[in-house]
Amino acid sequence: LPRRAVETGASLLVRGGDVLTLEGEPIRDGSVAIERGRITAVGKRVAAPRGARVLDATDAIVVPGFVQTHVHLCQTLFRGLADDLPLLDWLRRRIFPLEAAHDERSLRASARLGCAELLRSGTTAVLTMESVHDTDVVFEALAESGLHAAAGRCLIDRGDGLPRRLRDGARRAMAESLDLARRWHGAAGGRLRYALAPRFVPGCTEGLLREVAAEARSRSLLVHTHASENRDEVALVRRLTGRDNVRYLDDVGLSGTHVVVAHAIHLSAAEVSLLARRGTRVAHCPSSNLKLGSGVAPVARLRRAGVCVSLGADGAACNNRLDPFIEMRLASGLAAIAGKPGDVGARAALEMATIEGARALGLEREMGSLAVGKLGNLAVVGRRSLQATPVDDPVSAIVHSATAADVRHVVVEGRVLVRDGRLTGYDEAEVRADAERERRRVLSRARLR
Ligand SMILES: [Zn+2]
Repeated sequence: LPRRAVETGASLLVRGGDVLTLEGEPIRDGSVAIERGRITAVGKRVAAPRGARVLDATDAIVVPGFVQTHVHLCQTLFRGLADDLPLLDWLRRRIFPLEAAHDERSLRASARLGCAELLRSGTTAVLTMESVHDTDVVFEALAESGLHAAAGRCLIDRGDGLPRRLRDGARRAMAESLDLARRWHGAAGGRLRYALAPRFVPGCTEGLLREVAAEARSRSLLVHTHASENRDEVALVRRLTGRDNVRYLDDVGLSGTHVVVAHAIHLSAAEVSLLARRGTRVAHCPSSNLKLGSGVAPVARLRRAGVCVSLGADGAACNNRLDPFIEMRLASGLAAIAGKPGDVGARAALEMATIEGARALGLEREMGSLAVGKLGNLAVVGRRSLQATPVDDPVSAIVHSATAADVRHVVVEGRVLVRDGRLTGYDEAEVRADAERERRRVLSRARLR
């Protein structure tokens, strides 16, 4: 990202909390100073920058803003409309028809609701996969939100049972993606980036996947896809390609540090080492994996092998929240089931939700921890709640006790986007009313069976 002074907030001093920098030990009763969008001091005694506004972090924990590396803003409106189904039925019977029924207005309502919820929960950066049409609308909503985001229109050029409106030729899919990249990559002062988003192997021809691989390399774009989420999906990929999913992605050029694979649950030992060797990123989505009954990802094994594993809520249609706290807690719990308690302890879960997320986006020098020179992206999480009492260890309090409702302030590049538990950039009642109205409209268009 280019260094810049545009579109950033005033000087700020976040004062009086336990600061989890993720660079070293927690700083008790510490402060963070932010000027022109970047952190200028972190420590026990920090002078207020000239003209700084003070954000109170008394009885609170200051953490780096959460980075969620797998969400779908276009699905926020489908919350509660696709419960209790396994992946392929969930897609064919609900999600594809609903995505096909979006128009610009419903998509905008969906994206705004998602952005508001993400910010309110302390999330400051996301990687999001969108639908086939009108992705400009999502970028507009992201620009307005103040979030950091990499987003992409999904690429899909095969698959049975796909509604006509989502059927897409590889040529048009690629051309539209590159147009979007020209308009949005680096926009909003560098807060927005484009990510090429092939949906998943059963939805993409080999020609399309190879083209994505080539364009991503030549234009230095992220690639965001799903793989090995569900046993039936893995079997389908074997039938279509004769290979395991991650192996096949590697064969068509989709591996490396710029590739983020969501889920990666059903992997062979060879695929685990392939992910590690190539530096391919994994986005772990524990709530979604539980709700769709997809399986338990081998997160501890991946991390031991050296794979960067970060967290994402996935879409609201399969979670149904966009809350990083529940994802941290479940990541730790699922790893305890797969192995033993402590395999993904509280500290590891917090790293996955912050610095590993930043690494997945290639932005670990810009965000993911609280250090001088990094962007001023942070969340202040209150610990006066009953469920966080009497916890001394702030890492345990964040991962095992806190919820999104405990988030007091959220700052992105020095701009206060949540203050005292209230969104500063949105009228929450208006966002909700718009979402209710557009949900009814999208449902009447979708004619679900
Ligand atoms: Zn997903």
